[in-house]
Amino acid sequence: MTPVERAHELRAQIRFHNERYYADDAPVVSDAEYDQLVRELAALEAELPELVDTESPSQLVGAGVLSTAFSPVTHRVPMTSLDNAMDAEELAAWGERIARGLNGEPARFVCELKIDGLAMSLRYEHGVFVQAATRGDGRVGEDVTANVATIASVPQQLVGAPPVLEVRGEVYLPIDAFERLKAAKQAENEVRVAAGRKPEPVPVNPRNAGAGSLRQKDPSITAERELAFWSYQLGDVEGAPEFTSHHETLEYLHTLGFPVNPEIRVVDSLDEVYAFCRHWQEHRHDLGYEIDGAVVKVDSLAQREQLGFTSRAPRWAIAFKFPPEERTTLLRDIQVSVGRTGRTTPFAVLEPVFVGGSTVGMATLHNEDQVRLKDVRPGDTVVVRKAGDVIPEVVGPVLAMRPEGLPAWEFPRLCPCPLQTELVRPEGEADTRCVEPECPFQRDQRIIYFGSRGAMDIEGLGDQTVLQLSEAGLVADPGDIYSLTREQLMGLEKWGTTKADNLLAAIEGSKSRPLPRVLTALGAKGLGPSASEAIARRFGTLDAVMAATEDELATTDGVGPTIAASIVRWFANPANRTIVEKLRVAGVDFGRVDISVLPPILAGKAVVVTGTLEGFNREEAEAAIKDRGGKSPGSVSAKTFAVVVGAEPGASKLTKAEALGVPVLDEAGFRHLLDTGELPE
Ligand code: NAD
Repeated sequence: MTPVERAHELRAQIRFHNERYYADDAPVVSDAEYDQLVRELAALEAELPELVDTESPSQLVGAGVLSTAFSPVTHRVPMTSLDNAMDAEELAAWGERIARGLNGEPARFVCELKIDGLAMSLRYEHGVFVQAATRGDGRVGEDVTANVATIASVPQQLVGAPPVLEVRGEVYLPIDAFERLKAAKQAENEVRVAAGRKPEPVPVNPRNAGAGSLRQKDPSITAERELAFWSYQLGDVEGAPEFTSHHETLEYLHTLGFPVNPEIRVVDSLDEVYAFCRHWQEHRHDLGYEIDGAVVKVDSLAQREQLGFTSRAPRWAIAFKFPPEERTTLLRDIQVSVGRTGRTTPFAVLEPVFVGGSTVGMATLHNEDQVRLKDVRPGDTVVVRKAGDVIPEVVGPVLAMRPEGLPAWEFPRLCPCPLQTELVRPEGEADTRCVEPECPFQRDQRIIYFGSRGAMDIEGLGDQTVLQLSEAGLVADPGDIYSLTREQLMGLEKWGTTKADNLLAAIEGSKSRPLPRVLTALGAKGLGPSASEAIARRFGTLDAVMAATEDELATTDGVGPTIAASIVRWFANPANRTIVEKLRVAGVDFGRVDISVLPPILAGKAVVVTGTLEGFNREEAEAAIKDRGGKSPGSVSAKTFAVVVGAEPGASKLTKAEALGVPVLDEAGFRHLLDTGELPE
């Protein structure tokens, strides 16, 4: 294909995606893929000037798309797009262009969050809200006045406003409102699927859900969606005070009663700009709304004038884009894994894709019903999302890309292990299980679990090693780990003395783990670290636990009848008794109980920690809470007892605490709480 043909192809593809995104609010590729196409086109056009065409999507705002669903509104001052920088280098290149444009005169910058929503123009005449319009193609937008009038944070009336005031900003859907919308849709889908009907598409992300919610023909639907607004700019104004800088206009907007984002910063150097961008790239999930970057603007209005605009964007601003957290990719297959208790979990085998900072090739699909609800099928193009440290998720299929006649996925009837036992899904349960105790896949998982970090913590005994040992016939249950020899390990492929000796040393070290860990490692169903700790505390030795009756176990704090029954069942199984004896012979400590001796003054209390404390790192702060019987969850709710706030706290936690009236403590207050179990006066 010649570069000219490629440019034509790219333009056609970009126009197609613009329609899906701007007119339908239902894109079929992720923003990252779309941005890639635009960048490729721009690079071609830069190389071959004969290709440049004022109608090319690279030159247009919103690429000229206008829907017919709403009346047109002509913008008196055009609404532009933003050029973007993907990394420090591109940001620096922008800085150099600014310096050149200003003949070396220093500039101040205003750093803002790039809210992932929908650009909006609000018009006020004599202080009364009269019109709201979308950006459209930059010159003509859509009249969405009735819809925007339902947004609580958009003022209807202003005091002290000039005769004409146009305010620009971003309408967005807060994350909790998005989650509620999504949950409602999922609940509807459950009913639909149960009745044998097809599930409807679930909103993929707050931006698309927000844009779709706003551009409704029926404003009462918009009203239900809890949209919000951040203002960030003035448009057409008559009779307002004279301003010399952007940050003054933001202050003015704030005094008039418009929401102005509290994270906006004015800085004097590009280094500080970059620090702002990096900070928010790392902390983007501390906010209650989605951002997809930072926007950097030259502060001086005179300098802005000097720098001017390109055909689609101001030269005095740049969007610093964060790496994508959402991509589309091919779902190659759906396979099923078998856990240590026989529970089977379907998972997506994906064409590997770089998203949320790592390459994702697999993602859990949880259970049969989830696959049906999401209606994902091998061969589908799917949206994959990985936000921050969260586990990657297959959000759903891109239905517009589904090949015709693609069959729905059926849960396999047989266990994928060599025994191929029939799987069972008990009535009323979500999980499908392999109930064959000899299932080699379950067995391997039990050994992996035994050596894992929360259990016996045997370094070097990861998944691959266990599978290798199991295949070589060296281990068939967790007890066998303790009779492994150096010669056996050295006989394995790719094992040398160091690797073998390290593993043997780690196994030796595990013999002195405290009793709660030994109990957890044994792997009775439902017996996790906290119940293990309570049992260890009460009974003191493994032999005493084995001798305990179901009633005795069930009356232990935090244990209950289900776990008690599971423990008794576990020890009643002769194969498990054999494991215990193997551990005893190996010299595993059955009675080390060194648990917190602090009084449980925070029992039943949830204390959330956010930001950096001076005297504690995050783990230490959480441990201090837990050692006193409290909990330290990651998010604030009405049940939270207190929120401890250090330096640079997560803004959403703080806002939520304030909104819910949860007490907020500084470090001194936290120490008081740890000493007394009470809030400071
Ligand atoms: P843009 O989103 O990169 O930047 C401009 C927009 O940023 C403004 O219009 C405004 O709405 C917004 N913004 C947020 N916070 C702001 C702030 N503080 N100050 C100023 N503006 C702020 O560019 P664009 O022209 O709106 O569109 C391109 C975007 O849309 C890209 O992210 C692109 O990936 C996406 N898109 C995706 C598809 C798709 O098929 N997936 C199709 C078209 C466009």
